[in-house]
Amino acid sequence: MRNIYLNCVKRTEPVIRNPNFARSAKAGARLGFVTQKCNIHSVRNVTAFSKSGADSLRDDFCTKLRGLGAKNIQSRMMGHVVSQRDSRFKKLGKEDLDYFKSVLSESRVLVSKEMGGNADPTELDTFNTDWLSKYVGHSQVVLFPTSAQEVSKVLKYCNENTIAVCVQGGNTGLVGGSVPVFDEVVLSLSKMDKVRSLDKDSGALVCDAGCILESLDDYVGEFGFTMPIDLGAKGSCHIGGNVSTNAGGIRYLRYGSLHGSVLGLEVVLPDGTIINNLSTLRKDSTGYDIKQLFVGAEGTIGVVTGVSIATARRPTSVNVAVLGVNSYQDVKNTYIQSRKDLCEILSAFEFWDARCMDTVLTGFNTSNPLSGDYPFYVLIETSGSNDEHDEAVEKTMENGLVQDGTLAQGKTQISKMWSLREGIPTVLAQTGATYKYDISIPINQLYDIVHDTEVRLENAGIYKKDAAPSENYPVKSVNGYGHIGDGNLHLNIVADKFDDKITDLLEPFVYEWVENVAGSVSAEHGLGIMKPECLKYTKNDQIVSVMRNIKNMFDPNGIMNPYKYLPENK
Ligand SMILES: Cc1cc2nc3c(=O)[nH]c(=O)nc-3n(C[C@H](O)[C@H](O)[C@H](O)COP(=O)(O)OP(=O)(O)OC[C@H]3O[C@@H](n4cnc5c(N)ncnc54)[C@H](O)[C@@H]3O)c2cc1C
Repeated sequence: MRNIYLNCVKRTEPVIRNPNFARSAKAGARLGFVTQKCNIHSVRNVTAFSKSGADSLRDDFCTKLRGLGAKNIQSRMMGHVVSQRDSRFKKLGKEDLDYFKSVLSESRVLVSKEMGGNADPTELDTFNTDWLSKYVGHSQVVLFPTSAQEVSKVLKYCNENTIAVCVQGGNTGLVGGSVPVFDEVVLSLSKMDKVRSLDKDSGALVCDAGCILESLDDYVGEFGFTMPIDLGAKGSCHIGGNVSTNAGGIRYLRYGSLHGSVLGLEVVLPDGTIINNLSTLRKDSTGYDIKQLFVGAEGTIGVVTGVSIATARRPTSVNVAVLGVNSYQDVKNTYIQSRKDLCEILSAFEFWDARCMDTVLTGFNTSNPLSGDYPFYVLIETSGSNDEHDEAVEKTMENGLVQDGTLAQGKTQISKMWSLREGIPTVLAQTGATYKYDISIPINQLYDIVHDTEVRLENAGIYKKDAAPSENYPVKSVNGYGHIGDGNLHLNIVADKFDDKITDLLEPFVYEWVENVAGSVSAEHGLGIMKPECLKYTKNDQIVSVMRNIKNMFDPNGIMNPYKYLPENK
């Protein structure tokens, strides 16, 4: 037994929940049970399910296990919602593995040693653990199809046998949607990575869903085009994952939503039906636009296997500047002024606060491109075909609000400036457990929530702004950065560890705050396992009910990415 599940709902002694030892749930928490049933040295993951209050119970339990000789234990929290595996789902048996191997061949079915396979545990961990190491699942089987036909056969079989499936792209998602919760089969699209066609006149690209975003941009770049989406995880995320999360990113200001640039999709439904809608037409007004349902569906109603997308002409002239300003108001007013001055050549407008800057400069061991330190920084990018645009950027730098600014000279400096902004999520995640809130807020109030969160955590005595290094608070920093042009703030709280006490202070506080300003609890990361119960802060009952009907229509057996996306149906 490698994985132990603790159900800590009652805040008393934890109850062991383990799919392999289901009866233990009734038996209550007994370390003796663990020692009798398994080799203590093999235990690797202890996952606590709880609404709150699980932390100390889980930590106690882990300490006791370590005292008994268990090594390499990772202690995790999983979800605030799901505490129990859905017993309707079949547990995989040899006959299922044989079927998967017959469709995909032995080499494209990864099976744990516990189930008779050869997978190294660390190999499976990669598919079971999310990018933030916040969510960990316990799948024993990963499948690697290479075509829509193979996906179709696998899904049809899973549907007929009520086998739960977790679809995985590049596994860079930030809301736990890409990893299984219990023992769902992981369907990885990573081997579906071929470009199918590029129309060199229109720029319409058709490709497999598992193509990596950066590789696609390199590919279309050779023909003078660029992908209409770009984000910090571009080196790992898949275009199918981008579509399925309705990802935003740093080009949103210029090219808009994927709802606009996706021209068509090839999708496999849970019953195995392949819907081929890989149109390359820009305009098509013939009835319901089915593909839109899959943009942002997060693998809950089908698997995206192919994507047709409108690429844009690659700009030949790009200018980037980093600016230092004194207040969030000045960030906002600089944005408003830039839109006026730069109009259609403005292609990105990003901001971050001084704490983000300090962390990223330390993390990258590099120096500030500006000569002084400022409370806020802005990255402004213009792009087009005219080399004279740098003069327009320089004009923005002289608007009276900007304290200091520097214009990149050449490609190396451009990418260095971008790396400061794009490196923030990665570097923050390296400094501790990062609570990430990706929210849409009217830009007038965008940064207020950062202050209010700081005050709340300070009042609770677990955080002190500008604390001396010798002072030890559980919360290390409260950071704000984001895509101001899209009204999208990333509120990131870095703590020593994921802790229920901190979670309880942040949630529902953040979500209620967002609701009060008519914002969205998810601007671009989606819902995953993290936010189903928060949907109500942004979508009303009628909308949630329609969403549920759509889910039931496509996936009546509920096998696709269960436990996620929609709130529990009480
Ligand atoms: C450093 C960093 C920076 C980031 N910056 C941004 C940003 O600026 N903007 C932004 O929007 N996001 C950002 N993200 C989040 C993440 O990269 C995006 O959500 C991305 O679109 C996920 O793609 P993926 O291939 O990794 O999907 P995964 O993480 O593998 O999956 C995400 C969800 O989509 C589903 N899914 C994946 N592929 C398919 C498919 N083919 N068919 C059906 N369902 C599928 C999964 O089941 C899951 O629910 C960032 C992440 C990191 C780590």
